[in-house]
Amino acid sequence: MSNLTWFDTHCHLQDKAFAADRAQVFQRAKEEGVEYILLSTSYLEDSRAAAELALQYENVYCSMGFHPHDTKRWNANSAQKLKNLYQKTEIQAKKMDRANPIVAIGEIGLDYYRDLSPRNVQQQVFREQLLLAYELQLPVIIHEREAFQASYEILRWAYEQGFLQKEAGVAHCFSGSWESAQLMLALGFVIGLDGPVTYKNAKRPKEIARKISLDKLLLETDAPYLTPEPKRGKRNESAYLPYIGQEIATLRSEELKIIAEQTTANGKRVFNIK
Ligand SMILES: [Zn+2]
Repeated sequence: MSNLTWFDTHCHLQDKAFAADRAQVFQRAKEEGVEYILLSTSYLEDSRAAAELALQYENVYCSMGFHPHDTKRWNANSAQKLKNLYQKTEIQAKKMDRANPIVAIGEIGLDYYRDLSPRNVQQQVFREQLLLAYELQLPVIIHEREAFQASYEILRWAYEQGFLQKEAGVAHCFSGSWESAQLMLALGFVIGLDGPVTYKNAKRPKEIARKISLDKLLLETDAPYLTPEPKRGKRNESAYLPYIGQEIATLRSEELKIIAEQTTANGKRVFNIK
């Protein structure tokens, strides 16, 4: 049992990888002090599944949106369908006397590494979802891989149009340089670090972990992916989040308690959780 409180701000516990033991996965997270969980989503049905799951657990939240890989599934009705899901979930939550568990639009952005959707489609759907986030006054979860410049240009446009929230959201699983991190911070984003920060050769995430102001950092597992050391090779789950916190505490020569407290507070601030 842990006496620290953690927030896994990015995981996919609605994924079929957890079909057999999902309840135990939530239970183990709790036992390790991972009291807050945000489920990140990739397409409409995935967003619906996450919202349904979030409503079943206390302190479990989710996003809704289309991952760059899945933007080829986006059509003229998709924004409206997401809005309907947001409203329907809000009504259900109210009946349970809680706030809407959908707290962000994401994960959205550009992925030029795997290129699973055409780049022009990725860009167009990214912009449309930034507008949706503006309309619903929600922060965004950014997925960007080998597309920093193009992604930054779109975010810069949104920033200049006033479409980003003051707490704009998170640059999820950030793997860019310290200089690129600074550009994201200047737009109002915080930086999300995941399992790779525990990998020996991950120079850039380690540099960011050392240098970043602690109020600009979120911890994420991205479970079932990106399992941290020493569990690497196994399926990832939220209960492993403290390994990421421990590595960051070591890199910064800071107490684990400080890392847990501050990153949990950051997650609540960015996603407007009371
Ligand atoms: Zn993810």
